[in-house]
Amino acid sequence: MKLTGECFCGEIKYEINGRLRDAKSCHCSRCRKAFSSQASAYALVKPSDFKWVCGTELLTSYVGKQGFGLQFCKQCGSTLCGIYQKKVHGVTLGCINEDPELEIGHHIFVGSKASWEVIPENVPQYEEHAPDSVTAYRNLKKR
Ligand SMILES: [Zn+2]
Ligand SMILES: [Zn+2]
Repeated sequence: MKLTGECFCGEIKYEINGRLRDAKSCHCSRCRKAFSSQASAYALVKPSDFKWVCGTELLTSYVGKQGFGLQFCKQCGSTLCGIYQKKVHGVTLGCINEDPELEIGHHIFVGSKASWEVIPENVPQYEEHAPDSVTAYRNLKKR
């Protein structure tokens, strides 16, 4: 499966040759700021499946204390992907052009969501981490 993604101004483009997995939306106050939105909308990608196509000169990074970071476009401000040890390990779903053929599996940190956000009743929601995402996070750190 091939997917493409790009930022708002279209200068930065990427390709994914493979499948995305573990799509989730985190409603914590940090993700709200990082994604300038009510929550993150993010899925994991195998680093070897991900390739920048153009515009990397406009790409800039913010890496937090734990080594996880986000990369975004200097020109338009779109957040494109998440990095760990300089490798892309996930992408923001909003920048993908095609149907990624997956849905957000769970909503996490709903306990600290913004007061103005309304989450539909019929989606899996967790006050904090979802049990399986804790495992996914540990696996990522081991690599
Ligand atoms: Zn841009
Ligand atoms: Zn979060």
